[in-house]
Amino acid sequence: MLKNVCVFCGSQPGRLPEYEQAARELARVLIAHDTGLVYGGGHVGLMGALADAMLGGGGRVTGVIPRHLMRPEVAHQGLTELVVVDSMHARKRLMADRSDAFVVLPGGYGTLEEMFEMVTWLQLRLQSKPVGIVNVEGYYDGLLRFVENCAGEGFIRRADWDLLIVEHSPALLFERLELHAAHVARSHPARGAIDRT
Ligand code: AMP
Repeated sequence: MLKNVCVFCGSQPGRLPEYEQAARELARVLIAHDTGLVYGGGHVGLMGALADAMLGGGGRVTGVIPRHLMRPEVAHQGLTELVVVDSMHARKRLMADRSDAFVVLPGGYGTLEEMFEMVTWLQLRLQSKPVGIVNVEGYYDGLLRFVENCAGEGFIRRADWDLLIVEHSPALLFERLELHAAHVARSHPARGAIDRT
């Protein structure tokens, strides 16, 4: 059902070993479902750990990287496919087009920006692919409280405040994303592609 999943995650490894463990666990889940990974194409931090775990387990990995990040020390050289694009915007668009759902692991500004852009497209009905967070060791608790606050203060509609699907484990999150994608496919067979962004 989920042929490819796009993952946003840190270009740093983060403080806790659990972050990298979650990236490796996510790779196992994707491989077990024969789901390919689409990601930012780097070999640094959690991104690199995730790509390496996918490739080490025989999984498919597509990296999408802007030319300016293409220096050999940051681009992963061993991917199934590496697509080089001209801008950060073109990259996000292509990563979204090439995948059926989005998964967010711990990360910094880049990860948050990518996640919120996809949720915004979802909110505006520009796309219908689900966005899920692996909330490793409560990393996103503070952010989720803030999103709840945004809804409470009237800046996020009640109907939209649970657009983010949150689970602690990659396996549970994957199941929920699959259910969501199956539901969308049944109720809106023509949707799923980003066509008005
Ligand atoms: P951050 O969370 O700020 O570390 O940024 C991570 C996100 O930004 C990833 O999902 C990537 O799409 C992008 N990104 C940041 N650094 C790199 C890099 N060195 N190579 C490829 N993509 C990167």
